[in-house]
Amino acid sequence: MSRIPLMAGNWKMNLDHLEATATVQRLHWALQDANFDFNAVEVAVLPPFTDLRSVQTLVDADKMSIVYGGQDVSINPAGAYTGEISARMLVKLGCKYVVVGHSERRQFHGETDKLIGGKAMAAVLSGITPIVCVGEALAIRKRGEHVAYTLAQIDAVFGEMAQDLAPRAVIAYEPIWAIGTGEVATPADAQEVCGAIRERLASLYGRQAAWQMRILYGGSVKASNVASIMAEADVDGGLVGGASLDPAEFAKICRFAEHIA
Ligand code: PEP
Repeated sequence: MSRIPLMAGNWKMNLDHLEATATVQRLHWALQDANFDFNAVEVAVLPPFTDLRSVQTLVDADKMSIVYGGQDVSINPAGAYTGEISARMLVKLGCKYVVVGHSERRQFHGETDKLIGGKAMAAVLSGITPIVCVGEALAIRKRGEHVAYTLAQIDAVFGEMAQDLAPRAVIAYEPIWAIGTGEVATPADAQEVCGAIRERLASLYGRQAAWQMRILYGGSVKASNVASIMAEADVDGGLVGGASLDPAEFAKICRFAEHIA
């Protein structure tokens, strides 16, 4: 069975709950107008926490095939953790996915691989799919250490995750130098690291599990560059930031199969 591509729009701290419903509605219309096959590509939006209830209400009422998720989750199930959101709360809101370890959380909130591994665990144990972000900074790539660095992140994040849980995760390879910069990795760059991640997953969890797991590329993905990246063997989708805020552009990204050169 081949892997169904996933296009996930990370809205970051953009769009209030009213803008969120308008954006999801426009995305849905754009895809519907193009007779988009939601069984061929999974489409997800990842709004701020404050938008999730509104997105849930819209998606449920209009029976949309768009899925959604959070941008972060607590490692703790409940209690005195001011400002945190638990996996159970996300489940109650119908979330299918949650991002863990985005480079902006690593950079601005000091998140470590160990913490990110705990968040990924909290998600899978609650039935949510974590989208685990990994990827190197520019200085590391310039030294030619990007593969080793990214694989070390995989080892550290997945270190505690058991064989039966790991295949429930999605991994997003996001070179930090390509996030929000307009600087996109070449398809060969993306394949080099995504292929190495799959090999490492095979040695951790076996070939069959590694074959099932989806590995996304993220970093300045746009309608104009998505097709060539998606043509690579080990790239199973995109984690899309800026371009996902424009529903027409994001719909084109989701329709990548139609514009393969
Ligand atoms: C991201 O935020 O995960 C991302 C890849 O952003 P952008 O697409 O804007 O580079």
